[in-house]
Amino acid sequence: MQEGEDPSQWWEPLRAVEERAVTEGASWLRYVTEVQHAVSEYLLHYGEQRVEVLGVEATYAMEVAWTGRTWPVTRSADLVVRAPGGAVRIVDHKFVGRLNDRTVSRYRLDGQFLDYALIGAREWGAAFDGAFLNLIEWPSKAGATPKMKQLQAPSAPAAVESRKAQLVYTHAQRSKIERAGVDLWNYPKRLNEQVCNGPYGLCAGADLCAWGKVAATNLPD
Ligand code: SF4
Repeated sequence: MQEGEDPSQWWEPLRAVEERAVTEGASWLRYVTEVQHAVSEYLLHYGEQRVEVLGVEATYAMEVAWTGRTWPVTRSADLVVRAPGGAVRIVDHKFVGRLNDRTVSRYRLDGQFLDYALIGAREWGAAFDGAFLNLIEWPSKAGATPKMKQLQAPSAPAAVESRKAQLVYTHAQRSKIERAGVDLWNYPKRLNEQVCNGPYGLCAGADLCAWGKVAATNLPD
């Protein structure tokens, strides 16, 4: 409707979930009921919200520069909206195992949100109202109701201010390691239980870090 088109040319959300799952096959079909449940709950919570959609999976780029070199930084935003009154918000959706204050504070120093703060200020100036979290707690029991919460991501002004410098030094450090010809198997690793096995599970590279080359398949020697 916002684009002046007839919305009836698309399926309603619940039907769209089914149609897409049919296209994708069995691995999607098994989740149709749960996803429809989550979508219905979402509509109950937020179906009356009226915002102007400025972008969906919109990509933004900025550059960081140091001693004559520049590096690109790109971020994709789930959703960018203009709220009634004109405030522009970048909205990021997070499915979480448990929704509480700690869940929210986890994102305060997340580079993704620091970059959103920089990109939003550059793109929309004073109209930028910050990054918002759209949190959905996936219930542990089948059929239970998902919890939902939308709120502004906690602010971290000092971290935002120093973000570009942090990125630059990280890039510069990486370039230095590259130039030194370090064996990639010895590339500095995080090796931290919070990072290697975080809220999204075990890092895909964990076996490579734990076992080295014997865990590698289809990789050059
Ligand atoms: S397991 Fe993953 S996060 Fe941890 S050090 Fe290895 S590559 Fe980095």
